Amino acid sequence: MKEIVVIGAGVNGLCAAVQLAEYYYGVASVTLISEDVSPATTGDGSAGLWGPYYCGKTPDHKIVKWSTATHVFFHQLWQNGLASRIGVSLQPCVRLTTDPDGYPEPSWKDIVYGCQKLSQTELDRLSYEHGRSYTGGYHFATFTCEPSGLLPYLFNRFVNVGGKFVQAKVQSIDSVLNNRKVDLIINCTGLGSLEMLGDKEVLPIRGQVARVFAPWIFEITLDDSDDGNYIIPNSETVILGGTHQMNDFNRNVSSTDSKFIFDGCERMLPSLKKAPKVKEWVGLRPGRNTVRLELEHYKAGKRTIPIIHNYGHGGCGVTLCWGCGTEVLHLSKGLGFHGDTKSKL
Ligand SMILES: Cc1cc2nc3c(=O)[nH]c(=O)nc-3n(C[C@H](O)[C@H](O)[C@H](O)COP(=O)(O)OP(=O)(O)OC[C@H]3O[C@@H](n4cnc5c(N)ncnc54)[C@H](O)[C@@H]3O)c2cc1C
Repeated sequence: MKEIVVIGAGVNGLCAAVQLAEYYYGVASVTLISEDVSPATTGDGSAGLWGPYYCGKTPDHKIVKWSTATHVFFHQLWQNGLASRIGVSLQPCVRLTTDPDGYPEPSWKDIVYGCQKLSQTELDRLSYEHGRSYTGGYHFATFTCEPSGLLPYLFNRFVNVGGKFVQAKVQSIDSVLNNRKVDLIINCTGLGSLEMLGDKEVLPIRGQVARVFAPWIFEITLDDSDDGNYIIPNSETVILGGTHQMNDFNRNVSSTDSKFIFDGCERMLPSLKKAPKVKEWVGLRPGRNTVRLELEHYKAGKRTIPIIHNYGHGGCGVTLCWGCGTEVLHLSKGLGFHGDTKSKL
């Protein structure tokens, strides 16, 4: 029996672990090792909106490939009876900018449903309503898939197919190899790769958000400008955002950021002034110049161990999660592992 170790139980580690455990059922044992699990991972506080955002210079063709697979996955969950259990919704969404160059045609335009460029009349109306000067934008329908529901679902799916879980912090790759027989390591530690691997390209992109009770809102509004705000409904609450401070490790709620969030969102939608506040939260997005999804042949003494790295998903780790997990599986197949392609579910 081959031994696969996945490090990190965030949304990317779980998507990889599930696909590996299902494909290699009876052929390889998959162990997930993680310091934190849901509800303490980065994804847990996020809105789970499908949408490429702050993923550095990751090439468009990769973003399109990985995010398409995730969009299809969310659609399947939504269509086949798991929408209310996980919290998957198909919603109208408008993405806007005040950038003088307008909104460039998005590479993801054909993945979402019914994507239309906003007309000048629509931009003028929204600029008036929001007190902004929009220069471009798109309207379409897409999914929110709430990580607070998705992560437990993925974890159970992993365990139900025989996956093993160990809660621990991994100090180094060598420490994993010293303690057990391992044939393949998958590194999905997000920001943790800064310390565990010493990857200096990894940096936190701090995000503060608020959740309010506003069950009358059924549309996502994102102002993608640097000083913009966003409003994203989830099934129980509505997320108001948000900040994106580079290389900032502060996990405490800042009153300055709270003011920016509430003032900005209430300017866009004045009825939010009446919305009871539920909570505020800060998370650190695992930023990197590009997402690192690649195979490394790691030398440990006389041995060489394959490691597939899958981290640095920045502000769209939920959007890319299933597609990146599929690519991890694909890279593992190239190593000569043989799996059972029949789904066990
Ligand atoms: C405010 C905010 C809003 C967001 N909204 C969205 C959104 O709407 N849509 C979207 O697509 N994305 C969004 N994101 C980004 C998204 O949440 C992240 O990209 C994603 O959660 C990253 O997932 P991950 O699994 O790669 O990393 P993480 O969730 O950070 O998981 C890493 C895991 O590795 C473990 N780990 C780390 N180091 C070690 C170690 N040494 N040993 C053992 N375990 C280790 C951690 O404990 C953790 O379990 C948002 C982020 C923030 C902060």
